[in-house]
Amino acid sequence: MATFETEALVLKQFDLGESDRLITLYTREKGKLKAVAKGARKGNKSRSGLVLPFSYHNFILYQGKSLAKINHIESIAMNSKLREDLDYMAYASVVSEYIERAGLEEEADQALFSLLAVILEKMAQAQKEELLFYLTVFKAKLLLLLGVKPEIENCTVCGDKVNLNNSTPLSVEEGGSICKNCFKNNSYKFTLFSLNEMRALYKITFAEISQLKADQFGVQILEKINEVTEKFLIYHLDLKPKSLSFLYTIRKMNN
Ligand SMILES: [Zn+2]
Repeated sequence: MATFETEALVLKQFDLGESDRLITLYTREKGKLKAVAKGARKGNKSRSGLVLPFSYHNFILYQGKSLAKINHIESIAMNSKLREDLDYMAYASVVSEYIERAGLEEEADQALFSLLAVILEKMAQAQKEELLFYLTVFKAKLLLLLGVKPEIENCTVCGDKVNLNNSTPLSVEEGGSICKNCFKNNSYKFTLFSLNEMRALYKITFAEISQLKADQFGVQILEKINEVTEKFLIYHLDLKPKSLSFLYTIRKMNN
């Protein structure tokens, strides 16, 4: 057993006894791991009190037999807004839970780690109206990283180039666009995508996050891409965070 140093984000926490917390971390060096934050419930007096959901720190951890223990913490980003406002919390919870479900223990994934760190930081600094945009970007990038990005330019059935027009059928089950020929001879479950919506889906999936801005996309387009990426994650990867229902409750209350 040894100590090691790693950057990590806090995915969730539980109270443990009178004064400690059990936390789930997503670390840069070792993927997902559980650790005990000693004295975390005693508040500010202990540096462990900094280990709050969605916060980002550099840790020195001691790996015990089953759980890790925190030896030292250096904060990188507290992302406080994500805990102080219910809307922000709902969105950040969904992001964290996707990572908790998709991330593996004892297996580093730099790309997944960076995606989590960047999206939580962006959400913490975002306007409320931009949260849906960042969740949508997160889901599209998660699909890409997990190897099931929607096929847009070529037909998922025959492989031919699809002539993208103003109503191209896109099937979650088939994994993307369907060309005219294949579509007319079969019955697929589908959603029609306009050229603009396809372009937005393509851009959100493939462009660098730094190149994407919320105001480049209309709300209706975002809603549609949010829905389709969510269906992809459920159908192809069985990823459906419980916190999604909390998010949808909050969203309904706001409408
Ligand atoms: Zn086809």
